[in-house]
Amino acid sequence: MNNSKNILNYMFGKGAIENLVEILNKKESENNYVIYYIDEYFQNNKLITKLPIQNDDEIFYVGTKDEPKTQYINKYRDILIEKNKKTPNAIVAIGGGITLDTGKAVANLLTNDGDAEDYQGWDLVKNPGIYKIGIPTISGTGAEASRTCVMTNEKSGLKLGMNSDYTIYDQLILDPNLTKTVPKEQYFYTGMDTYLHCIESLNGEFRNAIGDAFSQQAITLCREVFLSDDMMSDENREKLMVASYLGGCALANSFVGIIHPFSAGLSVVLDTHHCIGNCITMNAMEEFYPKEFEEFNLMADKQGIKIPKGIAANLDEEKYKALYNSTVIHEKPLSNALSINFKDILTFEKVKEIFQRM
Ligand code: NAD
Ligand code: ZN
Repeated sequence: MNNSKNILNYMFGKGAIENLVEILNKKESENNYVIYYIDEYFQNNKLITKLPIQNDDEIFYVGTKDEPKTQYINKYRDILIEKNKKTPNAIVAIGGGITLDTGKAVANLLTNDGDAEDYQGWDLVKNPGIYKIGIPTISGTGAEASRTCVMTNEKSGLKLGMNSDYTIYDQLILDPNLTKTVPKEQYFYTGMDTYLHCIESLNGEFRNAIGDAFSQQAITLCREVFLSDDMMSDENREKLMVASYLGGCALANSFVGIIHPFSAGLSVVLDTHHCIGNCITMNAMEEFYPKEFEEFNLMADKQGIKIPKGIAANLDEEKYKALYNSTVIHEKPLSNALSINFKDILTFEKVKEIFQRM
């Protein structure tokens, strides 16, 4: 049976980021320097001037063109070893899922031998990571609350996180002021990650009353946000931040369904980013999730968001094979949605046809 762990400490509210200094000061340790991973968007942003950065601290601006790769995580670790900064007082990650996952992965790698790829899987991390603080600046993936950090090993093609209790942030600062500047499309795509993984879980076979309760509340909040006139109003940015957090908590007690495996296929074969990939996939999911398909399109229309179409319409046979393989490899979620015999439904021809419909 799952022995679930959730975030122990979180601070929520407008302006909450101002408490970072106090949190860091309370956590005195032998080494007082802090390592920051900050979304590249904030380089030269006034947010940086508000952070309690000291001379010995290290700041890395995390690029978001690519989602995390194991080789980047190893590189970050190597830089810190080279600078003799392997035992910081804290790691602070400020950004979206890419940056939050980077902070988690480096924190684990600094206290565990080997490389990032050695820890892709379940409960492989042996030692607690460096104390870490997560500060999301966009809402939806639940990365701030979950026990994983998604990374791709380019050599093996494996896209899998370090699923471990040690991957969970020690402290969160949830400040809805930080999401004001997110571009509208991105706000929708990332926000929808919460909605989609919750509807996948609730339609699945492997259910759990606690996971269901987190998912139901997260969906309720998503509906309020995305069916309203302005999804990015102050109140709605607050709600979406809570929905994302609850959605991340739900992940510990639930499984996704059909959308995430297809989106993972797009990501591995066509390098499509996670959240837009989910939305593109959802547009081809009417037969599996008819009610939610309708609601999803209603939300997109209401917010004036156009989901890209046709990205997998005309590929060669090799590409469809690769897409098929990187989709059906996700046995657990597909069994959750379609039973253990899911391959009877998701034949190669069927999977190809679904990708062509996107
Ligand atoms: P992201 O990190 O991919 O960033 C998306 C874009 O938004 C970037 O261009 C970024 O610069 C920009 N951005 C972020 N905050 C901004 C702000 N306040 N103002 C302006 N621009 C801003 O965002 P995401 O969609 O949250 O994360 C996707 C990643 O999360 C993927 O790598 C995916 O694999 C991962 N993920 C992780 C989990 C988990 O449980 N660990 C779950 C789902 C997805
Ligand atoms: Zn997701």
